[in-house]
Amino acid sequence: ATPAATMVGTSIGAQNGVLFKGGDILERVRDVETVVFDKTGTLTKGEMSLTDVVVVDSRTDGGETAADGGQLTGERPDRTEESVLRLAASAESGSEHPLAQAIVEGARERGLDVTDPESFENVPGHGVRATVDGRDVLVGNRKLLSDEGVDPSPAEDELRRLEGEGKTAMLVAADGELVGVVADADTVKESAAAAVSALRERGIDVRMITGDNERTARAVAESVGIDPENVRAGVLPDDKADAVEEIQSDGSRAMMVGDGVNDAPALAAAFVGVAIGSGTDVAIEAADVTLMRDDPRDVVKAIRVSEGTLSKIQ
Ligand code: ADP
Ligand code: MG
Repeated sequence: ATPAATMVGTSIGAQNGVLFKGGDILERVRDVETVVFDKTGTLTKGEMSLTDVVVVDSRTDGGETAADGGQLTGERPDRTEESVLRLAASAESGSEHPLAQAIVEGARERGLDVTDPESFENVPGHGVRATVDGRDVLVGNRKLLSDEGVDPSPAEDELRRLEGEGKTAMLVAADGELVGVVADADTVKESAAAAVSALRERGIDVRMITGDNERTARAVAESVGIDPENVRAGVLPDDKADAVEEIQSDGSRAMMVGDGVNDAPALAAAFVGVAIGSGTDVAIEAADVTLMRDDPRDVVKAIRVSEGTLSKIQ
């Protein structure tokens, strides 16, 4: 394209909330064959809220859950929804993770006394480990518990039920014993499905990558029209860039769309990296294109500007 055409394109992009970091990027976007979306904060609002607290009794002699109305748990003060939530929230009060913040907020809204943990450790991509009231507390996924020698399987039915609803379910253990499950839910952005269908109509392959578990990821993908086969779940923060490179390994040109610090290496690895404007500075820094709004349909606008088919503010 001529320098004048590039200037016009860049300016139409800006008027539509799409910022290209230079003319070469503007021209590159039209060649994208695959669009890979991050889930949390990109396809979803990234506003988690606490939805469920479940008591799990892993004792071999018991096995009763909250379904017994607490009748059989009288002698176990840590086997109430309140105690499970209070332990989880106190442990998570050391974390900045949106999942953690939702648990803390949910506990406070329920009038529980959330305390600062005596010690705290973040286990990236898995959860947290903390000391609360002298107890060794774990909050996180199946892997976190198994790595610490706690069997997550007594909670498997509950986990599957919650994950099937698209929620992120987290296990809670105290002193080496599984005590419960808490779940957070996010809301899918209203325009996410429209963005996915507009891309697919253009013949673009649409995919999703997330650190979240398989079942939750598939439920969210299905609700926005992404083929469950095109979902890569359980991707650790450091492995997101590799996942993008794998998609591109057959020579296909991928656009990665993300918002988080976690996504920055993947944005840099992609043929085109797109940061959602409400995202972190680190993501914006690493990206080739920034969307000023947090509307995933602006990905389609970026492509249309690059093709020269978007001529006025729409
Ligand atoms: P995402 O890519 O969706 O932002 P992360 O890589 O941060 O996800 O985390 C992956 C998974 O690890 C989460 O779905 C959750 O199961 C677990 N996890 C991460 N951080 C925490 C936390 N602070 N508390 C509980 N679980 C967590
Ligand atoms: Mg994200």
